[in-house]
Amino acid sequence: MAYKITDECISCGACESECKNEAISEGEEVYIIDPDKCTECIGWVESSKCAEICPVDACIPDPGHEETREQLLEKWRKLHPGETPIAA
Ligand code: SF4
Ligand code: SF4
Repeated sequence: MAYKITDECISCGACESECKNEAISEGEEVYIIDPDKCTECIGWVESSKCAEICPVDACIPDPGHEETREQLLEKWRKLHPGETPIAA
């Protein structure tokens, strides 16, 4: 399930550099997550780094993007061709 950023975001920017998939960018009002790049951090680590670092808990799972672990790994592989996912 891709994560999303809620209106609680204070645009501190802390999450952007935490995302190794480069899924996070500055939006017009709050930061945004590209669901096509968010793997819940699966492929790198087992917990969502953006959610961990966000000071206002604005990074949350997006129920509109339900995905299995296998689908998330497949997304990761497309983002990082030729690389091997960690903790797969
Ligand atoms: S959950 Fe992980 S992959 Fe998804 S946006 Fe946050 S840091 Fe990036
Ligand atoms: S860490 Fe949280 S408050 Fe800061 S930009 Fe990211 S979502 Fe917004």
